[in-house]
Amino acid sequence: MRTPEPAIPERVQRHVIGMHCAGCHAVVDVAPRQLLSDFIAGTPVHCPGCGASYDVWGRMVEQLEFGVFGTRYAAVGANVVTAQVDLRRDQPLVLDFQKLGIPDAAEIEEIATTPSGSEEGWLHPVFQKDPGPGQPASDNLVIYPVPVGAGAEENQLSILIVWTSQTAAANPAQEELLAGVRAAHRSDPLGAIISLNVAMELALGSAMNAWLEIHGIGRGRRKRFLGSEATYGSQLSVLLPVAAATAGLAPIPERPRAALARLRNLRNDVAHGGLQAATIGGSDIAECIAAAAVGVVYCDALRATLA
Ligand SMILES: [Zn+2]
Repeated sequence: MRTPEPAIPERVQRHVIGMHCAGCHAVVDVAPRQLLSDFIAGTPVHCPGCGASYDVWGRMVEQLEFGVFGTRYAAVGANVVTAQVDLRRDQPLVLDFQKLGIPDAAEIEEIATTPSGSEEGWLHPVFQKDPGPGQPASDNLVIYPVPVGAGAEENQLSILIVWTSQTAAANPAQEELLAGVRAAHRSDPLGAIISLNVAMELALGSAMNAWLEIHGIGRGRRKRFLGSEATYGSQLSVLLPVAAATAGLAPIPERPRAALARLRNLRNDVAHGGLQAATIGGSDIAECIAAAAVGVVYCDALRATLA
């Protein structure tokens, strides 16, 4: 093997990962937060491809459970880059994400590679270190060409990269939501439940704090009340509906409301050691992610109406 050389990407394309129609596979929206806002407001959504009525909640849960390659990240906002590079015998390549237009501060969630070879053989890409969800885009990856069958002197390699970009400083709840999706991706349902519940607790705590503040409740009293007197459970089931009603917001739709309550129970079971990872199915986790995604958007909307 020679010294790794920089990969020269060709035919680079960048897209936002959207929510898809189950019927015609058209992208219904590439801005999941807008789609979730429409769903919360009860605004009917139609597929721009086939015109069918679009069940935002049902499709989001389905896409989270069965979505392949990156589409499970659509609920929290994700991007994809596709490119082609030439793979040559004995020549390792350094993949520089910035050359593909991925910001330095972004995080890589998933990479798929497809070598184009003949029946006799091809060069197969093997990463020096397998990229895992949440890997910093500032890292460079080294790809080694491993001959399969008779190998080849050279063949093309298609690369798809899913990346996300959200900083904890900008929105800690959104960052926890993403951590929950990553944990689910790593087959860590207990970790996913903890992160998703934290995401909702942070978003709700922030909205409740803003709500009490505009009603003249001082900082110390807010902190004491939200920190120890009104638990997360009562904030979710009592204070949030009251605050939303006074702000003129529709209640959280039935399915995410039930799923948020379930998420809270699962979180308590995890905390008390009463829940085994094996007993939680993919559909449970998909509903928990969808619920937290809706809940965070809802709390952000409430906070915005109070500002
Ligand atoms: Zn459609």
